[in-house]
Formats: sequence, structure tokens, C-alpha cells
Amino acid sequence: MADVLIEQLIGVAAQTVIRHADELTELDSAIGDADHGINMKRGAEAVLAELPKLKGKPMGEVLHASGVQLVMKVGGASGPLYGTLAMELGKALPASSTRADFAAALSQAIEAVKVRGKSDAGQKTMLDVLAPTDRAVAAGDAPPAIKARALAAAEATVPMKATRGRASFLGDRSIGHMDPGARSCALMIAAICDALGG
Ligand code: ADP
Ligand code: MG
Repeated sequence: MADVLIEQLIGVAAQTVIRHADELTELDSAIGDADHGINMKRGAEAVLAELPKLKGKPMGEVLHASGVQLVMKVGGASGPLYGTLAMELGKALPASSTRADFAAALSQAIEAVKVRGKSDAGQKTMLDVLAPTDRAVAAGDAPPAIKARALAAAEATVPMKATRGRASFLGDRSIGHMDPGARSCALMIAAICDALGG
């Protein structure tokens, strides 16, 4: 992956979050505290403001710096988790990386999110999108298939009962709503896959 490409991919992910901010806040109003879209939009704007300063930097450095912005600006539970994902991905990626290097780095970064969140797939969080995406990337799926898998995985959080994060306070009442973090994660993955093409 060229270093220019990473800036484009981070850019489309950030723009998608900004475009869908109201939808994400709406989802969080059902099973959380109605701030996920607001939080994510603030972080996405900070990342977009940072990108021009990172021009020409190695891919890993661009990802790490974006993660730092997410930790500082998103707040909530999701900020440190998305921040960890981007920072760890940045740290794990070798300067010139193959697809296999990327798949290995992604798995490593998702493991770091689990440690940070004391969480795992199956708890109605962003990890329910990250885990199947990780498997699709490792299997060598093409971007359209990865996108479809991520969007379906977010939908699949609707019947789940939350056992981590704010939504877990609702117990059974968390059932029947899509997890906001799963949706934001799927939206970003879908945008990145669209940018990568078929
Ligand atoms: P907060 O819950 O602090 O208001 P946000 O609304 O920004 O933060 O983000 C909520 C999302 O964060 C949830 O929908 C869920 O996907 C994700 N999340 C929360 N806690 C965890 C956790 N421990 N592990 C993984 N994801 C989590
Ligand atoms: Mg919230």
C-alpha cells in the first residue's frame, strides 16, 4: 500500500463518520447516552485537520498519529478503543507492507482493543464487526466482500444483549437495537473498501 493511499483511506473513513454522525447519535440514544455521533465527528474532524501535516510520512506513522487524535478528541469509551486500534495498527505495520503484513498487523491491533476494553466479540460492541472483518482480511477476501461482511455484522448486533459498555446497563432492554460502535466501525470499513475498489 502506498503512503499516499493511507491518507485517502483515513480521509474517506473520517468523512463517512461525519456524514453519518446524526445516525450514530440516534443509535446511541436508544441504548447509550446519545453522544456516539458527536464524539466520532469531533475525532474525525481532528484527524482530517492533522492529515495535511502528515503528508509524505510512512503509513505506520500516519495511522499512529491519527490514533493519537482519536484518543485525545473522541472521548467516551470509543475514543481510547478506536485510538488503540489505529495506534497499534500503525506500530505493527512494517514500512513497506504486503497484504499478509497488513492482515497480521490488523489482528494484532484488534487484540490490543480487546485488552484495552476488557472485551471480546459476542458482547454487542465494535468488536462484533472487527472480529469478522479480521477473518475476512486474513482469508484474502476482496474489498466488496469485506464491506458486505462488516455491514452485515453490524446488523447482527441488533438481536444481541450487551454485556460491555454503557448499553450493558440496560440488560435485556439492549436487545433489538443496533450497537452504535458496531455501526460506526462498519461504516468506516465500508468506506475504505469502496475506496479500494473491487
Ligand atoms: P460512551 O459509551 O462512553 O458514551 P461512545 O458512545 O462514543 O462512548 O461509544 C459507545 C460504543 O463503544 C459502543 O456502542 C461499543 O461499540 C463501544 N464500546 C464501549 N465499551 C466497549 C468495550 N469495553 N469494548 C469494546 N467496545 C466498547
Ligand atoms: Mg455514548
